[in-house]
Amino acid sequence: MSLPPLPSAIKYPEIKYTQIFINNEWVNSESGKTFPTINPTNGKKICDVQEGDKADVDKAVAAAKKAFEFGSEWRSMDASQRAVLLNKLADLIERDRIYLASLETLDNGKPYKDAFYLDMCATLSYLRYYAGWADKIQGKTIPVDGTSFCYTIHEPVGVCAQIIPWNFPCSLVALKIGPALACGNTVIIKPAEQTPLTALYIASLVKEAGIPPGVVNIVPGYGPTAGAALSAHPDVNKVAFTGSTDVGRLIMEAAAKSNLKRVTLELGGKSPFVVFKDANLDEAVESAHQALFFNMGQVCVAASRTYVHEDIYDEFVKRSVERAKSKLIGDPYDPKNEYGPQVSKEQFDKVLELIESGKNEGATLECGGNRHGTEGYFIQPTVFTNVTENMRIGKEEIFGPVQQLIKFKTMDEVVERANNTSYGLASACFTKDIDTALEFSSRIQAGSVWVNGYNLSSCQAPFGGFKMSGIGREGGEYGLQHYTEVKTVVIKTPQKL
Ligand code: ADP
Repeated sequence: MSLPPLPSAIKYPEIKYTQIFINNEWVNSESGKTFPTINPTNGKKICDVQEGDKADVDKAVAAAKKAFEFGSEWRSMDASQRAVLLNKLADLIERDRIYLASLETLDNGKPYKDAFYLDMCATLSYLRYYAGWADKIQGKTIPVDGTSFCYTIHEPVGVCAQIIPWNFPCSLVALKIGPALACGNTVIIKPAEQTPLTALYIASLVKEAGIPPGVVNIVPGYGPTAGAALSAHPDVNKVAFTGSTDVGRLIMEAAAKSNLKRVTLELGGKSPFVVFKDANLDEAVESAHQALFFNMGQVCVAASRTYVHEDIYDEFVKRSVERAKSKLIGDPYDPKNEYGPQVSKEQFDKVLELIESGKNEGATLECGGNRHGTEGYFIQPTVFTNVTENMRIGKEEIFGPVQQLIKFKTMDEVVERANNTSYGLASACFTKDIDTALEFSSRIQAGSVWVNGYNLSSCQAPFGGFKMSGIGREGGEYGLQHYTEVKTVVIKTPQKL
């Protein structure tokens, strides 16, 4: 598929919105506090943003609850009209695509080229895909015993808290509000404290699109304060979270301790990428490279364990190292660059510390391993060999540009090693043999299996984790299930109908 030409970015776009968005109005935090958001390319402050906390969450939840009340504008709206509003929101985002992609690059550090083509494309497709579902969410009629007429309705769950991370700040807003609004819920989004700006701009488009007040509320702030207040709130009916497994556990605990709100979690991974000896080597090397280094390794499905058959291992290592060394790093607004900084100083330090642990635990550093340049949070693309699963880099989620190349001999061995993790998000195998691909797909414990490619996700297909990588699915029709409650209505009838 050929892409349209890349329009020039708006370098250092004007920041238009930094307040809390409740009831389609901009407000300051109750505490009067703000927090800075930092440009990871140079470590400098972009602006201060209003810092939401429990009091602001209470206001946002009250607004979302009111908007969901029986008889409200939103509850009385035709489902087809919800689709119109979601499509309108998508159209406005498309109108402002250059601005939004430029803002995403500023706040997150990802290459503008990726923000424009990939993040914005995902944002639009999630909204438009779920808009199409709004008037197709149907129950059943059920032939129950006796003289009763039984049917089910798929009702919206109600007030949904949606807590999102910093790696795909804009597209994750769309992935969260798309199904929630299609089903008729109201939402409070808490963007990540590192990257609040695109979500806040989208809030302005929510209002412009004509989505009624209180349906979408956005409360920027920190996790242990604003995020925790949402997950413990008695009037929140569901929480959808994307982020780390540790925080996922806290959210589930808070949900259980408060009101048993519904919980969906999309968490971490240590995804295996398995290259069998009959694989197309050029394609496998490039795909394994992208599978790990895309978004500077800051992807929940990052393929951070690459298993390569012993017969092709040495050649695979040579080519992977050459590829990593050839990567063009620098100003993310420059379209020739493939690669920007890590999102924050904290992530930068964490990744460099894990790289040190790899060296100390006996892995072989083939290239990279240090910071790139002198300002911002850039890390050189790093490749390790001689990695084992008991090393920290072999078992912990790194969330950075660090590729582990691991040698294997047999299917039994590689499946056992690949599954020997508490995670189970994604996986891939490269082979030309259909039987090998099918056996691998069947034996691997992961929510997604990609064959001869990686990150082959799309809005129409479900995505989510086995084991400690999550609960529930997002995307596709499956992604709607968690945003409705099934109500069974039984009407006694005078005779069998
Ligand atoms: P990462 O480690 O990638 O930053 P986190 O899981 O820490 O990912 O953060 C993802 C999102 O969860 C962010 O919006 C963050 O503010 C939020 N968060 C962090 N801690 C908590 C918490 N205790 N309760 C609720 N949300 C939290």
